[in-house]
Amino acid sequence: MSELKTDKFANDPAATGHRAVLAPWAAHDARSRGRRYAEPPPDYRGEFQRDRDRIIHSNAFRRLVYKTQVFVNHEGDLYRTRVTHSLEVAQIGRTIAAALGLHETLTEAICLAHDLGHTPFGHAGQDALNECMRDYGGFEHNLQSLRVVDLLEERYAEFPGLNLTFETREGILKHCSATNARELGEIGERFLKREQPGLEAQLANLADEIAYNNHDVDDGLRSGLIDLAQLDAVPLFAREHRAVVAAYPNATARRQTHETIRRMINRVVVDVITATRARIAAAALRDIDDVRRQSASLVAMSDAVRVEHRELKNFLNEHLYRHERVLGMTTKSRRVLRELFAAFLADVDLLPAEHRAAALEAELKLGAAGRARVVADYVAGMTDRFALGEHQRLL
Ligand code: MG
Repeated sequence: MSELKTDKFANDPAATGHRAVLAPWAAHDARSRGRRYAEPPPDYRGEFQRDRDRIIHSNAFRRLVYKTQVFVNHEGDLYRTRVTHSLEVAQIGRTIAAALGLHETLTEAICLAHDLGHTPFGHAGQDALNECMRDYGGFEHNLQSLRVVDLLEERYAEFPGLNLTFETREGILKHCSATNARELGEIGERFLKREQPGLEAQLANLADEIAYNNHDVDDGLRSGLIDLAQLDAVPLFAREHRAVVAAYPNATARRQTHETIRRMINRVVVDVITATRARIAAAALRDIDDVRRQSASLVAMSDAVRVEHRELKNFLNEHLYRHERVLGMTTKSRRVLRELFAAFLADVDLLPAEHRAAALEAELKLGAAGRARVVADYVAGMTDRFALGEHQRLL
């Protein structure tokens, strides 16, 4: 790790990309734990701005356009894909970051990168690939996101991956098993010491949850798989919806629904800001190291809102994610991924030349697990439609 020398940019909004003055416990460009490969500081940007920009220029980010969030990409043009999901996460994260004096650009970078390692076909794809990799160390999309930014992206002559700062990488790696943590070095340490990541990482994690719980209600209603009558049993939705209908009885149902969701997001965002401010004050923080030493996340909803939010999540689980039409898609996608993985693993000559070479090299070094990992990297990188096309071509 190299120390970053960007003191001249500390608290300079033009250079660091955040609007408000940073709290002492926020991440600071000048006090970053640095990058894996030393680099001179950027001329006109902050360090986290450079991270954000590298993420946006990556291949993995562009592929998110054609990766499923809940609905497979070709089911309709209005549904969230992983890229629009990531943009909504970033938008919610930035609002809260600015209000709390946290680093807005670091938060944005983490939010935009959080799903870079996601497989095609949403969670069904990740589960299928994890099963395929059971004998070879498993597959976890969080860890895969880190692999993408640390190793798999090929954009710079000087280093593999995107060479992001420690703080962005720490935010990307939300969960990690102890076994994997031990192999990851500095970035895995907190899982062994049971420490927290910085507040921007905690925030990105929560913004993800706020974004999908709300936009999945919207997509679920649009798809017709759930309806307003069912949502009447979900307090977070029902209360706002009743208020909207009372205030705007003549608005179209669509406008009433969108107004309701907008208010739900606002309610949760305001709650997170208020509750987190109180927690930060109670913890008497001095700096980011104090944040890391806490026993639990400081960025969180109040207890009351957390309960309501969980009810919403349970509702979506039961009525949307496990709806027979979604499950039907899930079964098919699992089969596509399993068969693709098996075909490439059995015959690496089916892989494009570069990946074939990587698979053979990894096999020499690490045996069957090395070969399987390269196949998993290749399959995980596919978009939904590319995976379907390859499946048709090969099987
Ligand atoms: Mg996400």
